[in-house]
Amino acid sequence: MNRCSFCGRTEKNVNLLVKGLSAYICDDCIESAHDIITGTLNDHRSVKSTDAIPKLLKPNQIYEFLNQYVIGQDEAKKTLAVAVYNHYKRVFKAKKASNEVEVEKSNIIMVGETGTGKTLMARTIAKMLDVPFTIVDATVFTEAGYVGEDVESILTRLLQVADYDVKRAEKGIVFIDEIDKIARKGDNPSITRDVSGEGVQQGLLKLLEGSKVNVPPQGGRKHPEQRFIEVDTQDILFICGGAFDGIEKKIAQRLNTTTVGFKASKENEKINRNNLLQYVAPQDLKAYGLIPELIGRLPVLTYLTPLDRNALRQILTEPKNALIKQYQHLLAMDGVKLVFTNEALDFIVDKAIEYKLGARGLRSICEAVMRDLMFDAPTLKQKTIVVDDVYCQDKLNSQVMNRLKSAV
Ligand code: ADP
Repeated sequence: MNRCSFCGRTEKNVNLLVKGLSAYICDDCIESAHDIITGTLNDHRSVKSTDAIPKLLKPNQIYEFLNQYVIGQDEAKKTLAVAVYNHYKRVFKAKKASNEVEVEKSNIIMVGETGTGKTLMARTIAKMLDVPFTIVDATVFTEAGYVGEDVESILTRLLQVADYDVKRAEKGIVFIDEIDKIARKGDNPSITRDVSGEGVQQGLLKLLEGSKVNVPPQGGRKHPEQRFIEVDTQDILFICGGAFDGIEKKIAQRLNTTTVGFKASKENEKINRNNLLQYVAPQDLKAYGLIPELIGRLPVLTYLTPLDRNALRQILTEPKNALIKQYQHLLAMDGVKLVFTNEALDFIVDKAIEYKLGARGLRSICEAVMRDLMFDAPTLKQKTIVVDDVYCQDKLNSQVMNRLKSAV
């Protein structure tokens, strides 16, 4: 009777017995050995081997981690924390237990204006888990047979960031941006072919639900002589994001129609008309033009609120890699201490609001303010530089003037 050479149990008492040259090992001992190896290695260096199990942080720990980088967006952070926790629990724990309850995949869709932190959140989660991460734009894809990229090339990019380590790529995260741009135009299913939208949505279905997909290693279009790499998308977490411009109208319509009747006026009072996005529901995505099959494969729906003045001000200085900290760090390398006055920070925020660019605007304004300083810093005698609002105003004006001049 064959026995595990480590625990002594017989073949009958274990799920699996692997035969070596002159010994046997059972599945339980393999797992224990694996835990010992990853545990020990984790202490010394970060493990990148294909089967490494990322440390499973609890939802509140994921939330705390996000807090270091993302300002506000509490709802989205919590939803994401739970979804990511469940997803990786499903990937790394549930399968081992081989019990009958099959936990379904929790792909995520985030709705919110551009520049509110959708990509940042997905990127931060990937950084935390140390898994391959890629961002793709839904608008570059077209239905098979048309000019453009096949949806499979999403996985090509994931393979590339995973250094073609298929196992590692199969546990990665894909952020699909601008998912709203492939919405079908109008709510009625079209009878004519809709190249840009519905076909691509159909194409995405099989990736999202988890299936084995043939991926062209170099991306682009599939052609018959090409060799493919098979990638199983079962454990890849897909996070979709989109601004869904005008979806508030759909939400308002739904809220109005569902609250007719006796209680309508009371319920309506409770609805905050200034922030309708918080009531977003799958039906609204459908009304916007996503096909029900796609919505069904994105079961976790959350929203991001527009960033107000307060949030923008915090974004400048508080996150772990806040913009101002980055500039200070850069100049510190030249031995220069950089100080921003409160008025300067307020000025930058005011301009960002004026330009209506959300948090994205902060970066371009800061660049304009900082360019000359960064140019001069390495040769400056001065060891401390104070940036105030007058300086900011001056720099912005001169940049605008320069651009006007070059345009003439
Ligand atoms: P989008 O919602 O369009 O995906 P991004 O996540 O790309 O927006 O945000 C653009 C940039 O703005 C980020 O790199 C980040 O620096 C900043 N940013 C946006 N939202 C936040 C936020 N809530 N907290 C901190 N920084 C933010």
